[in-house]
Amino acid sequence: MSPMLSQHVLVLNRLWQAVNVCTARRALTLLFQGHAQAVLNREDGSFQTFNFSEWQHLSSREPHAESVRTISLRLRIPRVILLLVYDHVPKKEVKFTRHNIFERDKNTCQYCGTTCDRKDLNLDHVIPRDRGGPTTWENIVCSCIECNTHKANRTPQEAGMHLIRKPKRPKWRPFVQINFSLHQHDSWKHFVDLAYWNVELGEDLA
Ligand SMILES: [Zn+2]
Repeated sequence: MSPMLSQHVLVLNRLWQAVNVCTARRALTLLFQGHAQAVLNREDGSFQTFNFSEWQHLSSREPHAESVRTISLRLRIPRVILLLVYDHVPKKEVKFTRHNIFERDKNTCQYCGTTCDRKDLNLDHVIPRDRGGPTTWENIVCSCIECNTHKANRTPQEAGMHLIRKPKRPKWRPFVQINFSLHQHDSWKHFVDLAYWNVELGEDLA
């Protein structure tokens, strides 16, 4: 397989929100099947969309270094595609990880509201584990060491403590699963920035 085909392509949903990253191979398949359009940044800052045949014309009319070639055609590698259908990118649930719990709780002790370094935060079972409290999104919160020590092996009620918000499984958020250490092509910037703001807003409004 041409290394070009494993390049990363940003996937936008029908609302032009960044939802995923796929390989160029997948992007070209979606384009060919009519499930997506290629998106190109124009110099004036606007965006132009192309269906497969329009993209094919552009690819042969303006040859680009980032292309794949077969005997009969040359195709430029799109950097951004716009999905025309909804179902072709599976939604991923936010993984239940230490990192994502810290993210959800914004590195803030859920009892006293202090924001700390991660190293100064514990993960606390709201209902203690040996009292049947499960290890789930709804029963695990960030807690500072002081609150954790004070609470000890008690329920918040027994310890006279209150959660500043009810712990919940985070909603699936567009783009949040995307590994931000991936090299981000320049043409992604607009959408990634937008995704960032969408994520923050969604969180605040939730
Ligand atoms: Zn605390």
